[in-house]
Amino acid sequence: MGAGDTPSRGRFEKASVRDADVAGKRVLLRADLNVPLADGKVADDTRIRAALPTIELLRDRGAKVIVVSHLGRPKDREPELSMAPVAVRLAELLPVSFDPPHLIENEGIAGPGAAVRVDMMDPGEILLLENSRYEPGETKNDPEPAERLAALAELYVNDAFGAAHRAHATTEGVAHLLPAYAGLLLEREVRELTAVRDDPERPLVVVLGGAKVTDKMGVIERFLDTADELLVGGAMCFSFFAAEGRATGESLVEAAGVELARKALEKAEGGDALLHLPEDLVLGRSFDAETEVRELNGVDVPAGWMGLDIGSNTVAKYRRRVAGAGTVFWNGPMGAFELEPFAAGTRGVAEAVAEAPGFTVVGGGDSAAALVEFGLAESIDWLSTGGGASLELMEGKKLPGVEALMDAKEAGDG
Ligand code: ADP
Ligand code: MG
Repeated sequence: MGAGDTPSRGRFEKASVRDADVAGKRVLLRADLNVPLADGKVADDTRIRAALPTIELLRDRGAKVIVVSHLGRPKDREPELSMAPVAVRLAELLPVSFDPPHLIENEGIAGPGAAVRVDMMDPGEILLLENSRYEPGETKNDPEPAERLAALAELYVNDAFGAAHRAHATTEGVAHLLPAYAGLLLEREVRELTAVRDDPERPLVVVLGGAKVTDKMGVIERFLDTADELLVGGAMCFSFFAAEGRATGESLVEAAGVELARKALEKAEGGDALLHLPEDLVLGRSFDAETEVRELNGVDVPAGWMGLDIGSNTVAKYRRRVAGAGTVFWNGPMGAFELEPFAAGTRGVAEAVAEAPGFTVVGGGDSAAALVEFGLAESIDWLSTGGGASLELMEGKKLPGVEALMDAKEAGDG
C-alpha cells in the first residue's frame, strides 16, 4: 500500500493524472456522479464528493475540465434523469457550469452546441455535460458518440471506478481515441482493492451478505481459494441452507443461487478457507418494520416465516472473527437493515469492522449506506465507491475501463 504523500501509481505508472500535462488543455473527465435522487434532489452526495480531488487537481493545473457521467438508467432521455440536480449540488462545492439540456434534444450530449461552449472555456473552468446515457450509443460502446466526445477534448481522464466494469463509450471507447489517464479515485480504488485481493495481511476475513446472491457467487468461489475465513449472512445464506436441504420458509432464495451455493459448498469441503454460515436467525412474517418478529436458535425456518437477519450468537461469532483479522473485506448487509427490527446483525458487524485493528475495506452501495447510517463510515480504511466494479475486481476479472487506460494512446501520440 502506498504511504504518505506519494502513493505508488501501481498499474498506472504511465497513465496517472498526476503525471499528465494538462495546463491550458481541454480534458474530458469521466467521473462517477451516478448518485441516488429523491424529489428531484441529490439524496446522497458521497460519489460527488469522491470525484472532487481529481476535478480540483485538473482545475488547479489550469485544465479546461469537461465532466461527463451517467445517471441512472434512462431509456429515452427522460428529463427526471437529467444531470441538473447533480449540477446544483456540484455547484455548491465548486464553480461549475452545466451544458443546457435544451441542446440535447437534437444534438446529443456532445454536439456542435457543446463544442461551441467548450471553445469559450478558460483554463480552470469546469463544464458538466448531460447524462452520458442520453446517448443511445453509450452503453453499446458505439464509436460514433465516442468520436464526438473525443473531438471536444485533447486528453481523457477516467475517474469513474464505479462504472469501470462496463465497456461503454465514455468508459472504454473514448480511451482509445485520446491520450488517457486514470483519475485519483480510480487509481486509489484499484490500488486498495488489488492489495486486498493479491497481498492481504493474514488472516483475510471476508464477510458477504446482501440480496444479489448470483452476482456475488463468483467472489465467493475466488475467496474459497484465497481467503482464510468467509462469513456469510444476508439473504445469501438461504441459498446455502436450501442447498443443504434445509427448510427456508418464505426467505429470499434464488433458484440459480442454490445451484451455485451447492457448488461452493462442495468446493469448501476440501478448500483452504473456512466457510461460516449463521447458526441462529431473526425471523419476520414479512419484509416490513411492523411485522411480527421472533428469534430462532437454529436455521431451519418454519413455513410462514422469513429469515431477515442473523441472530445474536452469529453476530457475536462474526464479531470475534473480524476482530482477529489482519484484513477484512466486507460486501453486503447481514440482514434487512433498513427495517429496525432486522438491523442488529448489520450494525454488529459494522461496529466490529469499524473497530477492527486489521486493514478494512468495504464495497457495495447498501453496505456503504449502512455504515453512513450508523455513523461508522469514517472508521473504515477504504470505503469503495464501486459495488459491482469492486466485486469484479476481487473476482479477478479485468475491468474494461481500467484495461482501456493501459492500452490507450500514450500522451503525445495523438
Ligand atoms: P450491496 O449494495 O451492499 O452490495 P445488496 O444490494 O446485495 O448489497 O443487498 C442489499 C439488500 O439486501 C438490502 O436492501 C437488504 O434489505 C437486503 N437483505 C439483506 N438480508 C436480507 C434477508 N435476509 N432477506 C431479504 N433481504 C435481505
Ligand atoms: Mg445494493
